[in-house]
Parts: sequence; structure tokens; C-alpha cells
Amino acid sequence: MDWNDNPEQADFRQQVATFIGERLPPEYRRRAAAVDDGAGEGLFAWYADRISDKQEDRDAAKQWADALAERGWIAPHWPKEYGGASLTTMEQFIFGEEMAKARAPMVGGSGVMLLGPTVLVHGTEAQKAKYLGRILSGEVAWAQGYSEPGAGSDLGSLQTRAVRDGDEYVVNGQKIWTSAAHMSDALFALVRTDPDAPKHRGISFLMIDDIHTPGISVRPLIDAAWGHVVNETFFQDVRVPVANLLGEENRGWYVGMTLLDFERSGISGAVEQTRALNELVETARTDARSQLKRSPQLRARLADRALDIEVSYAFSMRIASMQAAGLVPNYEASMGKMFGSEAGQELHRVGIRTFGLYANLWPGDALAPLAGKHTRGYVRSIPSTIAGGSSEVQRNIIATRGLGLPRG
Ligand SMILES: Cc1cc2nc3c(=O)[nH]c(=O)nc-3n(C[C@H](O)[C@H](O)[C@H](O)COP(=O)(O)OP(=O)(O)OC[C@H]3O[C@@H](n4cnc5c(N)ncnc54)[C@H](O)[C@@H]3O)c2cc1C
Repeated sequence: MDWNDNPEQADFRQQVATFIGERLPPEYRRRAAAVDDGAGEGLFAWYADRISDKQEDRDAAKQWADALAERGWIAPHWPKEYGGASLTTMEQFIFGEEMAKARAPMVGGSGVMLLGPTVLVHGTEAQKAKYLGRILSGEVAWAQGYSEPGAGSDLGSLQTRAVRDGDEYVVNGQKIWTSAAHMSDALFALVRTDPDAPKHRGISFLMIDDIHTPGISVRPLIDAAWGHVVNETFFQDVRVPVANLLGEENRGWYVGMTLLDFERSGISGAVEQTRALNELVETARTDARSQLKRSPQLRARLADRALDIEVSYAFSMRIASMQAAGLVPNYEASMGKMFGSEAGQELHRVGIRTFGLYANLWPGDALAPLAGKHTRGYVRSIPSTIAGGSSEVQRNIIATRGLGLPRG
């Protein structure tokens, strides 16, 4: 199998790398050069930077968004006519890989990745005109309000209620795990509009333009690594214009699922793990505290991580190749997501073992090996085996849709 770029792909890769080399703002260059101790907001770095107290963060977010926008690379997968770059699937794969190698933040988050493509499929012309431009300019950052305390894996059980009152819906209920809601301007949500219909048929998709609308309150959920990424979001008599319904009333489940169909290859995970593995090996060579010299078992576990990364890379390539061939990855996407997130967790586990008791030192402690990245990274890697569909749910999908086994 030849996985090398063809000449056009190699040329495109070079263009992306040159662009990043020339245009990535100094603040992002500085962060990329430092050990990533996991303190940043990860996928939501751009959300945090655009509202940061520090001028250099805000400048970096703006400069980078402007630079990407010149090429249509804020939303490289959107059609050119809507401000994207109409990149082919393999170009998107290459773009994502080069961005991850440079640790260049993605701009636009859930608006670009999730909402925009759904508006393109289900939106009216008026909705496309209203929403797409503001996502692309970085003017509006969106949060995703799907999960509820009683509806995560079984999302169809969601209870947040929207009752029609003239030209408005009145929304009451609660969402949970709303990533970056405290840094967002707007929120899209699945709500129940017909409580008497079978559970997947009484749901609608609403775009709530202003997350500060009276009646919405966002409360932080501090994670096990003392970080604030996720929130609880409460709705009390929140009025949302009917014009903000995406797709038909009570067909929101299918609208919402379109959004989940825009599978990404997940290539950034394999790139980040490669960097973390190389960094670990380099540090262990010179750090006297490393157990690698003493423990053949640990060396074997580290070697297994190198294999994991190759497998993750192969999964990502498979997903991208399927999409390039016009196929929709299904259980293949579950395999990639599950394997990649568990491999990331295991890599951090080995990173911790490498430094023995010193790995108990938390980031911020001058003696913490690799700035404590594996200690915090391990804690942070647990949610990534849950977010976007837990490992158990992915295994169910692989068993039923992949292996054809009956549902348990
Ligand atoms: C960091 C993070 C960020 C997130 N961001 C968002 C966001 O921005 N917006 C949003 O809407 N949601 C978000 N989520 C929610 C996420 O989608 C849910 O956490 C996930 O779908 C699991 O749902 P749950 O937490 O309700 O767990 P549950 O569904 O209650 O699952 C509990 C346990 O039971 C297992 N389980 C459940 N069903 C089955 C089954 N059929 N077979 C076997 N085992 C099963 C699960 O694997 C899990 O171990 C986020 C979650 C995390 C952790």
C-alpha cells in the first residue's frame, strides 16, 4: 500500500505548511514550541482567546482567523460559494494533519464543524444568509446543547421542552456537558416539541442566537483536572423565534443526526500522540528519573504505544479514504474514535509510569516531569473516552453494525 501523497497532494501539503509557517501569529508559535501541559482549552482554545483578558491572546485569535479566512480555510470543507474552500476529503485530511503538526488552533469550533454544514443541508436561504457569514467571520461562537442529565448515550430520551406560543417557542429544561457554553455567544439545541410522539419523532432543532437571552443560565462544571470546559445550561421560559427552527418541527432528530454524520478522520489525535511519544522518548533519554532504562516491561508498553499510533493513523486514513470514495463511515468511525481515545489514555498512563513517583507532581510544580503533561493528560483523557459517544457505545456499534451481532 502506498500512502504517500500524489504530486497534487504533496503540492497542497506544501502550500498549507508554508501558509502556517508564514501566518501563524507569534503567540501561537510560542505556545506550539512549549511543552503542552494540557492547561489550555484544547479544541476550544480559539473560544477562550477571543474573549481573553490578555491582548496578545485576542490579537492572536483575530489575526489567525483573518489569515485563514483569506483562503476560505476557516471552513475548508464548506463550499466556496458559502465562504469555504471546497477542499476534497483528502485535502481536508492533509490540512488537518498540517494544522495539528503546527499545533495551530482551529477557528470557529462547533459553528464551523457542526452547525454550518447542517444549515447548508437543512437551512432556508434566509437562515443560510443569517448564520453562515457570522460563523465564518468568527463573530459568533456556538455551543452544542444535546445531552441532558437523563439523555446522553440514549439521546432520544431528552426532555427539554419547547412549547409553541404564536411566533415563538417557550423553552424549559436543562442541558448538561455543554462544552464552552461560558465562552459562546449562541447555542443550538435539540428540544422536545411533541411529548406524545414516539421519542425520536417529537424532537426539534432550535438555534438560540443569544446565549444571554433572559431565562438561560450557564453554570460551570469543574472537571477532575480542575479545568472549566463543560457546563450545565438551564432554560426557564426562554423565548426563541419559530424562524430559528432548523428543518421541520418534530424532525429535529434527523436534522441533528446530519450533524453527527460529518465525521472527521480524527487525524489530529494521531499527530498529537506522535508528538507526545517522541517528546517522552527524548526526555526519558536524559532525565535520570526515567524508569525506562530499568524496566523492560515499561519499554515494551512504550513500544506498544508506537504501534497504537500507527493503527490510529490507519483508522484515520481509512475514514478519509472512505469519504473520498463517496462512502459514509459508520462502524469504521466508531473503531477510530474508540481506539484513538483509549490509545491516548494509555499513552498518558505510560508517561506517568515512566517517571514513577515524580509523576504525582502536578503541572506548575517546577519538578514535574514534562511540565506534568501526562499527569493532567491522564485525568483529561478519561472524558475523551466518553464525549462524542462512550467507548461502550462504540463497541456496541462495532458489534452490531460491524460484526452483525444481535443487539444485547
Ligand atoms: C468532555 C465532554 C464534553 C462534552 N461536550 C458536550 C457538548 O458540548 N454538548 C453535548 O450535548 N454533550 C456533550 N457531552 C456529552 C456526551 O455526549 C455524553 O457524555 C455521552 O454521550 C455519554 O452520555 P452520558 O454522559 O449521559 O452517560 P450515560 O449515557 O448515562 O452512560 C453512563 C455509562 O453507561 C454506559 N452505557 C450507556 N448506554 C450503554 C449501552 N447501551 N451499552 C453499554 N453501556 C452503556 C456508558 O458507556 C457509560 O459508561 C460531553 C461529554 C464530555 C465528557
